[in-house]
Amino acid sequence: MARVRLENVRKVYGVESQAFVAVHGADLEVRDGELLVLVGPSGCGKSTLLRMIAGLETISEGRLSIGDRVVNDVPPKDRDIAMVFQNYALYPHMTVYENLAFGLKLRKLPGDEIDRRVREAGAILELAEILDRRPRQLSGGQRQRVALGRAIVRQPAVFLFDEPLSNLDAKLRVQTRGEIARLHRRLGATMIYVTHDQVEAMTLGERIVVLNEGRIQQIDTPLGLYERPANRFVAGFIGSPAMNLVEGVVERPNAPVFRALDGGLTINLTSAAVPEGCIGQRVTLGIRPENIRVAGSLTSGGTQSEATLLLDVVESMGNEIFVYARSGNQAIVARVPPEPLPAPGEPIRLVFDLDKLHFFDSTGGDRLG
Ligand code: ATP
Repeated sequence: MARVRLENVRKVYGVESQAFVAVHGADLEVRDGELLVLVGPSGCGKSTLLRMIAGLETISEGRLSIGDRVVNDVPPKDRDIAMVFQNYALYPHMTVYENLAFGLKLRKLPGDEIDRRVREAGAILELAEILDRRPRQLSGGQRQRVALGRAIVRQPAVFLFDEPLSNLDAKLRVQTRGEIARLHRRLGATMIYVTHDQVEAMTLGERIVVLNEGRIQQIDTPLGLYERPANRFVAGFIGSPAMNLVEGVVERPNAPVFRALDGGLTINLTSAAVPEGCIGQRVTLGIRPENIRVAGSLTSGGTQSEATLLLDVVESMGNEIFVYARSGNQAIVARVPPEPLPAPGEPIRLVFDLDKLHFFDSTGGDRLG
């Protein structure tokens, strides 16, 4: 196993007027044995970053090391990595066994060693019963497990996953996600996993790297990202329904009050911890849907502030309700337990938990306080 280190790694596609910077100076260390997830919206540069680690894309600037070796100029086959893609590309004319053994044969490993590794991977991934089948005789989930098996038999220092579950249906995705987590625990291997799906990132990653427009936004544990997003982008990207982000001004006629720019929502901040320097400033106020509840329901204690909005839409999930309300053009979503609610179009009193507010700089989006 090995750690992977990126020092100021940049990727520029094209030249001169056509040049496009896909990754701007990434600094990152993946610890030995860690499962690290790269997540971000389409086009943020996550596949480019992974492909540079794999050696499938050249590095324009900076340094990449695997273990103690700088590998910028080392070809992919000599990097001691194995990659699993979205398209598992199994050889259709070969059996599962032959698909698993193929790479090892090319490396001229002794036959008994190949057999041992194939059977071990087959046992880990529960493929033992289907080693004689061909890919067309397998389900999508089984095919993806064979693709995982092909990576395992190589016993690489680092596993790289590029959206490996995207072709599977929702149920199978959850199941295979669990298999990858178990595989990681069992092998204790260094794994780097790319996805655009924040749920996949939160459930799999020991640490997560959030990327946007080619820049690393934050590197943290799932809980760290959720509880202390470093900026407005991370705040809005991690969590579903997304954090409410409201543009406004913190005023202090007597006590501090947040006034939204759009639609007249005001939140009394008297007992809130308002970060230094916010008073009189334009800020983005953030509050997660679960930190808003309907007035009159059971209180959770803590400091609170109430506002009246118009109820727009109610989405019942069975175990909880998403309440969409608005004040003018300002939309707010709350996530509340099942309870009787006013009818859509009626006023609704919402209570904001003042201990759970986030403040971001309105211009740059950085977290304040
Ligand atoms: P997705 O989730 O859609 O795969 P991604 O985050 O993996 O997105 P990348 O594939 O890394 O994104 O692409 C990052 C940016 O680099 C995109 O804007 C893309 O258009 C651009 N890009 C990728 N490959 C090339 C290329 N060969 N030439 C020029 N630009 C490229």
